[in-house]
Amino acid sequence: MNQTFYYPEAPLDATVLTAKYASYQEIVKILTEWAQKNHFELVISKNEKERRVHLRCKLGGETKFKDIAVRQRTRKSFKINCPYILKISYSKKAAEGSKWKVLKQKSENNEEVHNHPLTLESFQRLPKFKRALIGSKTTTLVQHMIRAGSSVPEIRRTIRQTNAASILTYDDIRNWKVEMEEQEKSQLNQINQKES
Ligand SMILES: [Zn+2]
Repeated sequence: MNQTFYYPEAPLDATVLTAKYASYQEIVKILTEWAQKNHFELVISKNEKERRVHLRCKLGGETKFKDIAVRQRTRKSFKINCPYILKISYSKKAAEGSKWKVLKQKSENNEEVHNHPLTLESFQRLPKFKRALIGSKTTTLVQHMIRAGSSVPEIRRTIRQTNAASILTYDDIRNWKVEMEEQEKSQLNQINQKES
């Protein structure tokens, strides 16, 4: 199998890989900002308190959806199993204020490469970028309609007069809907867990 891999154009500052941090949030902020400059998006794929945090490329294979059928139906349009991953680890023994650090990426697992071009054009297809582009007013409108149970065609009809019409595709809105429904479900689960 012949696959082309792509490296981020601006390499990550070497000091980030050697420094130690008080919190993983500090590291996540640095890494996500760096990723955006390189036209890809990092998402937290694993978050284990006082153990490890994994950041994957948004186009990576791991999704929060356990149901494969749902995942294929809804996410196929933009997930392409990108192998890129950054792992942040916690050390119990390390001194206070330096317990978190970024691990070196394993090249044998292709952890430092993407399987898609890192161009502005490809970045612009990502949901996060699109939602930034359509503005907060339309974003709120779409979210409101999703919560109210509107269908994708209904939402498309409503935004026809706005700039969002040319930005949000049918698949974008459908993915957005699934994402919000999943978020709601996990929030409900958390509430139920607290109560039981
Ligand atoms: Zn990627």
